Amino acid sequence: MNTDFLVIGASITGINVARELKQRFPDTTVVVIDKESGCARHSSGRNSGLLDAGFSWSPDTLKARFCKQGNQQLSDYCERNGIPLNRCGELVIARDGDELSDLDEIQRRAEGNGVKLEPVTARQAREIEPRARVHEQALFFPSSASVDPAAVMRQMEQDARDAGVRFYYETSFLRKAGDEFVTTLGTVQAGYVVNCAGLYADQIAQQFGFAGNYRLLPLKHNYLESSEVPGAFRTHVTAAADLSGSYPGTQIFLGVDGKARLGPAVKPALWREQYHGAEGFHPFEMSSVVTTGIGQMFQGGGEICRACLQRFTGSTHSRLITAGSRLVEGIRASDYRDWARPEIQPQLVNTETHRMVSDFIVEGDGKSMHLLNTVSPVFTCGLPLASHICDQVAAATGR
Ligand SMILES: Cc1cc2nc3c(=O)[nH]c(=O)nc-3n(C[C@H](O)[C@H](O)[C@H](O)COP(=O)(O)OP(=O)(O)OC[C@H]3O[C@@H](n4cnc5c(N)ncnc54)[C@H](O)[C@@H]3O)c2cc1C
Repeated sequence: MNTDFLVIGASITGINVARELKQRFPDTTVVVIDKESGCARHSSGRNSGLLDAGFSWSPDTLKARFCKQGNQQLSDYCERNGIPLNRCGELVIARDGDELSDLDEIQRRAEGNGVKLEPVTARQAREIEPRARVHEQALFFPSSASVDPAAVMRQMEQDARDAGVRFYYETSFLRKAGDEFVTTLGTVQAGYVVNCAGLYADQIAQQFGFAGNYRLLPLKHNYLESSEVPGAFRTHVTAAADLSGSYPGTQIFLGVDGKARLGPAVKPALWREQYHGAEGFHPFEMSSVVTTGIGQMFQGGGEICRACLQRFTGSTHSRLITAGSRLVEGIRASDYRDWARPEIQPQLVNTETHRMVSDFIVEGDGKSMHLLNTVSPVFTCGLPLASHICDQVAAATGR
């Protein structure tokens, strides 16, 4: 096969990069390959579908730069294409007096990121979400919403096909061999490669001489599904104290169907796609994950160790129920028995600083571009992030 652009990964970023490259450079050929039998079989089709308003990210990050814009673009995209959207908003609360300063910090970040917000009193907050346990003050973010990610991805794949992008499924990128690329479909000659391979992006990037300082610690996320009727909650609810750090704590959030979920529970995955038990057992990946985990855990002042402990210890069923009960009234363990489908974040660790990488990373040159550390909220950021990658490709190739 011969193509001008080869995109690896039929995902929110891969599909939109491919469509936009084809639209910007109509005389070129653009091919997307994916190892699965259809689009968005991993994070892009399985995530929670929360359109993040973009208030909690530090203003100097790509997350902050693209989240507000991505939320707006994706909401408009859903409305234009008749894809259901639950514009439920999000209430960020202080649970006690100590957390009022966390609320101030969230307000500062939101204002810095230009995100629309409404400061509300406890009484006003309870008009928005009668079950919220608010101490004195809260912030309401009307642009937080929910979608069905699989429905969004089906439409985006069709848009890319309509633009002239060609898709090859059940086709794995195996390795770079000089200027050619070996896939399970055969050898591909490509003028330029864009790597949007999610959980495998770091491995592929390393073959091109990038991502040298990063190692993967795959983290499995899972949510408890509520058996309460849709409408039992009116809005997503989050504690400001959980957001002002680098990692969000327990949240109540609503799906596009209005049903509530509580979580996440976070656990280590021993190999990259270890969704259930020993399914897809991969001894080589397991030894690499364990080596990275043990190797990095206690270096650099133990920051990774603390971050992991904080996430893993709060992830039992009883701890989630307790955390949920501090957020909202009427949480009964009997309503939260079933776990939703798990998902895995490709969390990278920086082997020089011994810290978890929090922002997305885009690295590349005149031959290839690589998107790394595609943790939440890449789905929300997908459209402007894809445009940013296309800008980088255009700059690197002088187009
Ligand atoms: C539990 C959970 C909940 C989340 N919820 C949200 C949310 O509510 N809102 C939000 O904005 N974000 C959320 N995210 C994050 C978001 O879902 C992901 O960051 C995003 O979907 C990642 O997209 P991606 O484009 O990087 O690729 P992915 O969706 O990870 O896809 C990568 C693709 O590459 C393919 N691939 C991999 N290796 C190869 C290879 N060698 N050859 C060919 N193909 C290959 C895979 O098959 C896959 O299709 C969540 C993440 C998790 C874990």
